[in-house]
Amino acid sequence: MLRRKERQEKEAGGNTRDGKEESNEGENAQRNRGGPSTEPLPTNDVTANGKNGDPEVEPMELPPFEIIAGDRIDPFAFKFQFKNVEYSSGRNKTFLCYLVDKGNTADGIQRGCLEDEHTGPHAEEAFFTQCLSDYDPSLKYTITWYMSSSPCSACAAKIIDVLNTKKNIKLSIFAARLFEFEEAEIQAGLKALHRAGCKLRMMKPLDFSYTWDTFVENEDQPINLWEDCKDNYEYYQEKLSDILQ
Ligand SMILES: [Zn+2]
Repeated sequence: MLRRKERQEKEAGGNTRDGKEESNEGENAQRNRGGPSTEPLPTNDVTANGKNGDPEVEPMELPPFEIIAGDRIDPFAFKFQFKNVEYSSGRNKTFLCYLVDKGNTADGIQRGCLEDEHTGPHAEEAFFTQCLSDYDPSLKYTITWYMSSSPCSACAAKIIDVLNTKKNIKLSIFAARLFEFEEAEIQAGLKALHRAGCKLRMMKPLDFSYTWDTFVENEDQPINLWEDCKDNYEYYQEKLSDILQ
């Protein structure tokens, strides 16, 4: 598995998403299984064992403000983070799975995943800085994102900026959930994205299966989609249509 961690501190202290929501679905166990970001750092054995009367030290978590780029997503993380429930309870990350087709057969289609902590740079921005670093204005880019939740207003503005300045990029965004869609500025961001030519749609049951097959460490097992997947898709798609009309 290829995973690369990069700290980006330039936007430390940026907006938090879902920070005020509480996890209430009994899924907390999976909440922090998003990958290496939650693996404890090696700790000093002596203090970790609490020997010599030293107070026990909690396992340290890696600091926030990092983007994790990888090849495939942990299956537990996928099932939790991409579940299209109405509220994003405890889902304090965004997962972005991407396909990049540069229209030349030599490169084929580039595929990968990004994962952010909402307190740091968001996955959308990281995509342009990390995954399109070899951007070539002479190529035609067809880019598809499968995201656990739709872009916040700040990211919408950044994406629009890219689409306006790089006319050879066509972007489609398929989201499992709509992020804070009752907020006026979020709605304005989605509308502006739509006007800028970005294709926006909610993930259908078939998209979840496709994403599982394409971006998850699935060990060749198909996914059993949750019972209300289709109903939730229809719920969100209706909300999105209302916003974009
Ligand atoms: Zn964002």
